[in-house]
Amino acid sequence: MSILSNPYFHNEAAAFEHLEEALWKGEPVCPHCGSINNATKLQGQATRIGVWKCKDRHCRKQFTVKVGTVFEHGRIPLNKMLQAVHLMVSSKKGISAHQLHRILEIQYKSAWFLCHRIRLAMASGELSPLGGSGKTVEVDETYIGRLKGAPVKAGGSHKNVVVTLVERGGRARSFHVDTTRMGNVMPIVRANIAKESALMTDESGIYRRASQDFASHDFVTHSKDEYVRGTIHTNTVEGYYSIFKRGMKGVYQHCGEQHLHRYLAEFDFRYSNRVALGVDDSTRASLALKGATGKRLTYRRPDLAAE
Ligand SMILES: [Zn+2]
Repeated sequence: MSILSNPYFHNEAAAFEHLEEALWKGEPVCPHCGSINNATKLQGQATRIGVWKCKDRHCRKQFTVKVGTVFEHGRIPLNKMLQAVHLMVSSKKGISAHQLHRILEIQYKSAWFLCHRIRLAMASGELSPLGGSGKTVEVDETYIGRLKGAPVKAGGSHKNVVVTLVERGGRARSFHVDTTRMGNVMPIVRANIAKESALMTDESGIYRRASQDFASHDFVTHSKDEYVRGTIHTNTVEGYYSIFKRGMKGVYQHCGEQHLHRYLAEFDFRYSNRVALGVDDSTRASLALKGATGKRLTYRRPDLAAE
């Protein structure tokens, strides 16, 4: 039986129950007054699906589990939004708004906004450093897309710069930076990698003082065709970039630079919660649902939509 045959993908009431279970664990939380497990679900034909009423005598307000989540302002039925979450977390290279528009039979613009809301749910906001004692973290930079209005130049200076940190056998974290200067990259590296880690990079001058900050720093010299020297290599982070670039070119056909950090959050999320780390598709979907709450999307204007 396919996971997509689950009732919460097809029936809106079941979808509400699924999200309630994921976020409340059986104890509804009133978003107006904060009361926990002190509300009744409204039933009956005239009632909207998923509406609860707070029993606190000073409150008595109505709410649904969507309040305060990335699903709050969408007009798409919740069961279709849950399908979109599932498709997005389980497609290795991502899924485009066009694909969701066709598969879910929803408007393209709605699909575009839904994709960005799901990306927001996938953004971890997690601050605990990568690596640690006995662990290795690889760091590399890549160029993607093209800066608005920038002429094409050799060496990639017209493109957006991405820096990615990948713990071997662990999580990935990516950043959109202005330039590949040491002053842009090293503060990110120091803030996001435990100093007990072994650091692996290429020969780029950005990292020439990194041995002061970490247990060790080794590099391969790509300019001399050296890619692996024993355990010294950056193949893990290059593997991450290969998935990211295939996704950005093949599925998303690039994106505006103002959205790049959201796509990076999406690829980081799937990588950090991948099958090789014991996370299957449905666990990954529930992690995304848990991330759906307490986040604020700052844009609401469909006329700005462009992918
Ligand atoms: Zn209340």
